[in-house]
Amino acid sequence: SVTTEDLVAWIHAFRDAVQQHKDELTRLDSEIGDADHGSNMARGLEAVVAKLDPAPSSPTDLFKTVGMTLVSTVGGASGPLYGTLFLRMGPALADADPVDAAALGVALRAGVEGVIARGKAEVGDKTMIDALSPALEAWDSAAEGGATPADAARAAAEAAARGRDATEPLVARKGRASYLGERSAGHLDPGAASATLLLEALRDALA
Ligand code: ADP
Ligand code: MG
Ligand code: MG
Repeated sequence: SVTTEDLVAWIHAFRDAVQQHKDELTRLDSEIGDADHGSNMARGLEAVVAKLDPAPSSPTDLFKTVGMTLVSTVGGASGPLYGTLFLRMGPALADADPVDAAALGVALRAGVEGVIARGKAEVGDKTMIDALSPALEAWDSAAEGGATPADAARAAAEAAARGRDATEPLVARKGRASYLGERSAGHLDPGAASATLLLEALRDALA
């Protein structure tokens, strides 16, 4: 089963991936937004990692710290949305023993539903939801089939990447990119790209 250390490793891996892809995320946001998504996420995740020493002792404490720090340091549209994702995941794991693929699926669902409730985006609106929702569906079907957390995370990361790629032709209906109307088509959504990094980091941490 999945330990708190595994989940701390996930957050570190997400920070590393965002740092590595910071310029690319900002370039994507320069095409359909205000060119700050890479720097917003990198700043937030540096603040998060600084708060993980000493490491939290439970998944619930970990995700509360991550969520609150993202809300207060990322800013923009993505800060409150990523913050909500983690703030909703934490309580869902409070009574999970062991933290297995099914329990993580429940937590992921609570998180993604929180993002949807807050941002009101649906699949096809060209947002992070286009990566997060298919990842959640893939996670659940893998977990229902008896997959390990590592296998479920691999399936979810692949689904997220496909969802990210599918945002390219879409016209944005939420967030700053929606101000561009038809001109938002032909570019990947930056939030869908960072959400894919989040799922890929989970895949790598659980491998
Ligand atoms: P801002 O647009 O305020 O500069 P960021 O650049 O950090 O914030 O984040 C932009 C990303 O946030 C978008 O690419 C999109 O994926 C996501 N986003 C924006 N609005 C919403 C929403 N209502 N629901 C879900 N995701 C959203
Ligand atoms: Mg932006
Ligand atoms: Mg901004």
